[in-house]
Formats: sequence, structure tokens, C-alpha cells
Amino acid sequence: MKTDLAIGIVGGGIGGLTAALALLRRGFDVSVYEQASVLQEVGAGLQISPNGVRVLCALGLEQALMDICFEPQGKEIRLWSTGQTWKLFDLGAESVARYGFPYITVHRNDLHQLLYRTIETLAPGTVHLDHRFTAVERNDSKVTLAFEGRESMTFDVVIGADGVHSKLREQLFGSGPARFTGIVAWRGVIPAERLPERLLKPVGVNWVGPGGHVIHYPIRRGELINFTSVIERQDWKTESWSTAGSNAEYHADYPGWNEDVHTYIEAIPQPFKWALIARPPMQEWVAGRVALLGDACHPSLPFLAQGAVMALEDAFILGRAFVEFDNVDAALAHYQAARIPRTTRAVNGATANTERFHNPALAEPAGAQAYIDAQWEPHQVVDRYEWLFRYDATSIPFSDSEVATVQA
Ligand SMILES: Cc1cc2nc3c(=O)[nH]c(=O)nc-3n(C[C@H](O)[C@H](O)[C@H](O)COP(=O)(O)OP(=O)(O)OC[C@H]3O[C@@H](n4cnc5c(N)ncnc54)[C@H](O)[C@@H]3O)c2cc1C
Repeated sequence: MKTDLAIGIVGGGIGGLTAALALLRRGFDVSVYEQASVLQEVGAGLQISPNGVRVLCALGLEQALMDICFEPQGKEIRLWSTGQTWKLFDLGAESVARYGFPYITVHRNDLHQLLYRTIETLAPGTVHLDHRFTAVERNDSKVTLAFEGRESMTFDVVIGADGVHSKLREQLFGSGPARFTGIVAWRGVIPAERLPERLLKPVGVNWVGPGGHVIHYPIRRGELINFTSVIERQDWKTESWSTAGSNAEYHADYPGWNEDVHTYIEAIPQPFKWALIARPPMQEWVAGRVALLGDACHPSLPFLAQGAVMALEDAFILGRAFVEFDNVDAALAHYQAARIPRTTRAVNGATANTERFHNPALAEPAGAQAYIDAQWEPHQVVDRYEWLFRYDATSIPFSDSEVATVQA
């Protein structure tokens, strides 16, 4: 396809910026419109499994990424009450040997800034901040975007990477059903020096218990610990990420949980809480010359740690589709067909982890041992993760049969 197409991207999150970089690297003319006036992701961590690291490396970020990340040596499961620990799998060198790339953890803002700097070095002026998209108009070959208090812009193609509350999705496909899950999430970032040495193991930890779970892992070369947890609770329904809660309220949500969990909670300088809302996967992401990407089309419960990774894969596949097909319609049709089945499986896999992580069988230590042996039995773990980690967005062939399936 000719690279003189004008491509507009709505949303400068991790998905939108990665899509911009993937398209710029292939010589396309890209403009990103982000509503925020300062590009800054809220403070929290991200796990990037090898399938996502592969994409970032293919975009030329390998060295810079390794400078900002942490490389956990493995993952562990711990029991909510006794703190008993089971190895889930090895990472570090094992991940590189198995999948060709490491499994890393990063501070969101570090990754975001890296993408932004790389884009602005490659093509200064690509990212337009303080541009809140409000409305879209389309004809057969052009798409016009309107912004609050700004001039409208017209493009040959538009990518909607405007996140879980996507305005583009709402205008082109409707807002779709959303359901409160009855689950409240907490998050915080802990400076490592606030924790005793024994709680600074170089691993990712998943505490499981009846009605809730806790995840923590080091980020930013181990200087910080990202701490997130969820609990089933019906009384908090605000989806915003930036509602402050107190350490006391946080402790009170985890009665009877192991003292290590409470030591982490106590060390969080400022905890935040929000309600988890679930939306079913969409079966269509393309409307004419507009395509959705990332959380805009496949928002997920964060229980498989794949939301941002799926957005990275979407972005790379989109970039490839624009060079491997000779017209926009074919490129977008193949992009959507390649991505819907995989992201749907990931969204469903994350939902299925709710029952696995929160199971009543975990209540008593005796029953918990048998439950964990069964659920985290090595073959089952392979089934749950290998299809994710082995996927190669940089080379997987596009298939016409996938397009036929999506169109049927
Ligand atoms: C607690 C938690 C933990 C998670 N952990 C992981 C993990 O470990 N690994 C992982 O892979 N994923 C994880 N995720 C999921 C991940 O955060 C998301 O999937 C990812 O951020 C999606 O990126 P995105 O670019 O599609 O959307 P977003 O990050 O939401 O970005 C959307 C962007 O669009 C902008 N925008 C919105 N509306 C407009 C508008 N009208 N005009 C202009 N701009 C607009 C927003 O300001 C924002 O910058 C987690 C999520 C949560 C909640």
C-alpha cells in the first residue's frame, strides 16, 4: 500500500502510541490525538509477557526497555491465610530459552514515556496533546474527527485507541452492555526501601483466597513494588482509577489475610480503589475506514495480565497489514480477522481466572492444597499460558479463512 495515506489515531495510551510507532517505522504519515494535556500514565505496573516484549523489541526498543524494566525470575502462588508458597513457573533465562524473549515488569509511565520519546524523535509533532475527540463523520474514502475547542481534521484512515470508555466505539458501534462484576480493585506503588528484605523476592506473586486475590511484583529495576488486589464487595461502583482510599479501609477489606499482605498494604504511600466493570468481547472492530484497537474493542478484567500486551500485538499486526495488503479495506479486514479470535480468548481467559483465584475451596489450608495442586498442575498451566506467550505478531501469517469467519 502507498505510504502517503493520512492516518489519525485517537488516544495516546500504550495501544495508540505503539500503533503510531509501528506505522511510522513502516513509513506512514501518522497523527495521534490525546485528550490529556500532559502525557502521563497513572502510577501502576504492567507485566509484559514475552509475546509483548517481542513486539517492543521488533519496534527497536530492546535496549531502552531493558534499562527501565525489571526481569522477574519466576512466578509464585501464595495462600491467603497461611502464606504457603507454590512455584507457578520459572521466568528469567527460562523465558528467553522457551519463548525467545524475557518476561518483564515495568512502571506504566516509564513505558509510556519511552514510546512517546521514540515517536517524537522519529517524527516530531506526531502526538497532539490536549485534543479531546468528540465526534466522527465518514464517507467512503475519508474520516473527519472533531475535537473539543479545536479544528476538525480529515484522514484516509482512523484508528480508535481511546480505551475502555471509547467515544469512537460508542459512536460507531454503540456503547454495548457493561456489568458491575461485584469486584473492587485496589492498587498502590511501594518504594522498595519501605519493605523488609524478605518481601523483596525477585518474583511475581499471586496470592489466592476465597473472594479475592493479590498480585505484586517489582518494577523499575526493583526500586518499586507494584501492588494490586481485588476483593468481592458490592458497595463501590466507581470505575475511575484515581479515587484515593485509605490504608485503614484497605486493611479492613482483607480480614484474616496473612500478615505479609498487611505489611505490603501498610507500606503503600497512597492506595487507590475502583470498581471492575466487565464488557463482553466485540465481534466487529471495523466500520468503513475506522478500526478500533486495544481496550477500545477488547477491554478485559486484569486477571491474565494481557490487556496491554494484546494492544501491543494489535498495533504490530495493524502495521503489518498496511504493508502486506494493497488497499485499506483489505488491510483492516485482515487486521480484524487476525485479532478478534485471539483477543476474545484472552478476555474469556481473564474472566475464568476470577473463579480460579477466588475459589471457596481455598478457605481452609487442607482443601487449598488439593485445589492448588489440581488448578496449577503443570499441564494446565501450559494450556493457559503457552498459546499466549508463543504467539509471534511479527511473523504469523494472515489468513483469508479468518476473514471469511469474521465476515460470516
Ligand atoms: C489493575 C490493572 C492491572 C493491569 N495489568 C496489566 C498487566 O500486567 N499487563 C497487561 O498487559 N495489561 C494489564 N492491564 C490492562 C492494561 O492496562 C490495558 O489493557 C491497557 O492500558 C490498554 O491500553 P489502551 O491504549 O488500549 O487504552 P488506555 O491505556 O486506556 O489509553 C487510552 C488513551 O485514550 C485517551 N482518550 C480517551 N478518550 C479520548 C478522547 N475522547 N479523545 C482523545 N483521547 C482520548 C486516554 O486519555 C488514554 O490516554 C491492567 C489493567 C488494570 C486495570
